[in-house]
Amino acid sequence: MSQDTSNAPEKAYHHFIHDEVEADLAAGKNAGRVHTRFPPEPNGYLHIGHVKAICVNFGLAQKYGGKCNLRFDDTNPAKEEQEYVDSIQHDVRWLGFGWDRLTYASDFFEELYGYAEHLVRTGHAYVCDLSAEQVAEYRGRLDRPGRESPYRNRSAEENLDLLRRMRAGEFEDGARTLRAKIDMASPNPNLRDPVLYRILRAHHHRTGDRWCIYPMYDYAHGQCDALEGITHSVCTLEFEIHRPLYNWLLDHLPVPHRPRQIEFARLNVTYTVLSKRKLLELVRAGIVDGWDDPRMPTISGLRRRGYTPEALRAFSDGVGVARFNSTVDKVLLENAIRDDLNRRARRAMAVLDPILVTLENFPADKLEWLEAVNNPEDPAAGTRRMPLTRQVWIERDDFREDAPKKYFRLAPGKEVRLRYAYCITCKEVKKDAQGKVIELVCTYDPQTGHGTTPDGRKVKGILHWVSAEHAIEAPVRLYDHLFAAQFPDDVPEGVDWKSNLNPKSLVKVAGPKLEPCLREALPGTHYQFERLGYFFTDPHESKSGAPVFNRTVTLRDSWANIEKREE
Ligand code: ATP
Ligand code: MG
Repeated sequence: MSQDTSNAPEKAYHHFIHDEVEADLAAGKNAGRVHTRFPPEPNGYLHIGHVKAICVNFGLAQKYGGKCNLRFDDTNPAKEEQEYVDSIQHDVRWLGFGWDRLTYASDFFEELYGYAEHLVRTGHAYVCDLSAEQVAEYRGRLDRPGRESPYRNRSAEENLDLLRRMRAGEFEDGARTLRAKIDMASPNPNLRDPVLYRILRAHHHRTGDRWCIYPMYDYAHGQCDALEGITHSVCTLEFEIHRPLYNWLLDHLPVPHRPRQIEFARLNVTYTVLSKRKLLELVRAGIVDGWDDPRMPTISGLRRRGYTPEALRAFSDGVGVARFNSTVDKVLLENAIRDDLNRRARRAMAVLDPILVTLENFPADKLEWLEAVNNPEDPAAGTRRMPLTRQVWIERDDFREDAPKKYFRLAPGKEVRLRYAYCITCKEVKKDAQGKVIELVCTYDPQTGHGTTPDGRKVKGILHWVSAEHAIEAPVRLYDHLFAAQFPDDVPEGVDWKSNLNPKSLVKVAGPKLEPCLREALPGTHYQFERLGYFFTDPHESKSGAPVFNRTVTLRDSWANIEKREE
């Protein structure tokens, strides 16, 4: 598959990995080739952190006219599923990237095993009979050397025989491992005779029951890189301490090519957790409605929420690529989608908490069609017509009975403009027996069409509204951060990180009043509900003539204010 240019990513900012790659190119390494890979483990859906890794890896290939593979790191059969493999491919494509080769670590199981025999024959690996607990105990602590396994000095012949019998299934799960013979006194725990193979009888999503020994990630990864001809193996910082092992293995194996590992900082974002394990926990516990719940930081959740590939790529480029870990403010992600949707989303009117306004001087049988702009940022989006009748809905929040001086919305005796229509003045407030305002009686000034006032008087407030007679109702869901805490992972010992949930992460609006044109909203369409935020018709739940609206993001960041108040 070639690079998909129809949806080509924006120009990426320069970062330190570019310098590294350019230095290699200048030194004539890899015959001028750049070949990267994105290597997810298919044990969950991709999240916004993976977006970063995808943009970096595919971005390098694009920038240097190179290639990028999609490789499934499927060395851990117990946790991997075809559903994840499928979703990952879909998400990478949706983000706008095409891979050169699609590979699986399991494609290389035979070669990897051959390399294991090579290490045994050359005296660089041995079969160890210690249990997993014993291996950990012998490894020792960081500040003192570990102890050598009593099985470390088996002969190459004995090791080869045992390794072959491991593969043949002669031993119980966990009874033996293959370990690299490196240095039990190394200050780097990864070099203290790391395990390369374990015995595990588990059905593998691709190789079935063919294997009962599986390579460890650290062993498989670099050799797969080498076999695929990867030039720059870009990964996250936690693998920095694994790099000496990565290189040791390349040094001791007859690999066809030598890749180079470069690490960058993981992306963390406030108000969310980013780990497939934790996201799976949320799904399993029923806290969210699946991996694609619009509150999830997964690509599929963000997509269903109304995020676009362009916004995710712009966000990823904007936060940069660094060598130290930090947490990015979620506002940056939200601003990226605001920028994008401001340009592309059609405007419409929706009143989510309605209060009835009667225009007492507007004839009861009159219907007036007003022209409204579909997108002020995009003249090509054209205009539409909105019906105005004697009764309209406005937002309850846009009326205050005791309004402070600087309140520019509606209040008794005050004048505001109905967007694209006339100025109205509040004459009377009607309440129910409990004192709740149920209707506002207003007059409208017919001289104030087209945004003008006859005497040049200033009317500051402009309200969104919907004709009561024409309004439609449709499910509207207000999504917010899933977690109320900025750093949900950051909990004291014994406290469940899931206890930080935001109780208002999903609010289903009761009885919203929507502009009639929204009835025809197709699934997967972006709107800006004027003054309220960006909304997306749920691609799964919307039906023709029956849309369901998900709030993608509010027009402004409301959490900054909350935090200020709480300070
Ligand atoms: P998780 O803990 O969510 O499962 P992982 O690192 O185990 O993450 P992999 O499927 O192994 O997930 O990741 C594939 C690639 O994506 C790796 O190169 C990994 O470093 C990168 N990656 C994963 N999470 C992030 C993140 N938060 N920021 C940047 N890159 C990430
Ligand atoms: Mg992982």
